Amino acid sequence: MCGEVGLAFVNKLRDDDTHYATRCNHCGHVQLAPLPTVEEDEEFYKKDKMLKNIFKDIQSLQTEEKLMYRMELFVHEQADNLEKYLPPKSDQADIRLIDIGTGFGWLPQFMREKGYQMDGVEINDDKRELCKQRCGIEIFGWNFLKDEPEVMEKAGYYDVLCMTHVLEHISDPVLFLKRASILLKPKGMLFIDVPNFNDYYREHQKEYNDWAFMRAHVNYFTPETLTKVMERSGFSGVKVYGHQPHSIENAIHWWRNKAPDLRWHQFYLSEPLEWINKIYKAKIESEVKSTFISAVGYRK
Ligand SMILES: [Zn+2]
Repeated sequence: MCGEVGLAFVNKLRDDDTHYATRCNHCGHVQLAPLPTVEEDEEFYKKDKMLKNIFKDIQSLQTEEKLMYRMELFVHEQADNLEKYLPPKSDQADIRLIDIGTGFGWLPQFMREKGYQMDGVEINDDKRELCKQRCGIEIFGWNFLKDEPEVMEKAGYYDVLCMTHVLEHISDPVLFLKRASILLKPKGMLFIDVPNFNDYYREHQKEYNDWAFMRAHVNYFTPETLTKVMERSGFSGVKVYGHQPHSIENAIHWWRNKAPDLRWHQFYLSEPLEWINKIYKAKIESEVKSTFISAVGYRK
């Protein structure tokens, strides 16, 4: 990220013996070594190896369609989180959003249902096709790490650029953000959501810590390193916030079972218990020790 030489070992990966998580001695950024190439990354996502790796022991989640519906609730929560950072609802019809790395296209679909104008970009052909079949939304296929002249048609067109759970997968996040920012109007807003390397539970349990490191995640951002990446990419006014979708049930499941519960997303408790969840999430988010972090910044 900073271009300096010198790395220290951080952790092994849960699903790959050929890469390691390492910390830069100079800027403190945590990234895989050796760094995957653009070609390796493209192969990885076009074949959808990430979701299939995560759910490799769940036979019923080995088709694209099953994975698509598995992601639906996850992205519902992402859409509600994104909306908190957007201009007031009265202006929503006038602002144009674009979602980069849209996966199955749930975020554009949900944001359009909320009344926003939103397009999307996704390099995986099957996912774009499934989105078109499901809801009729066409997603662009641009890859910002390669030359894609079509992007220029939409240069300076959008008010808000969204990247939820994308930047941790990108081998050159600064180059990626610089290229993607061409889509934004001057002073347009960038919204990013990524896993948080400062997640409080990593310190408490070795199994949880080891689960956090995977081949799909090339970057492991803290609020500080995410801010540096955004500033190096030409964004100003960067602010980072805690984002905790996972409930206290998820933490208790890890504590009891030393493993994730992959059967469902543990985001909410039943209604009579939800008050305790609200207190839990608010405390972790206020300390920015949450599972994810959300960031906003503005194009100069
Ligand atoms: Zn560095």
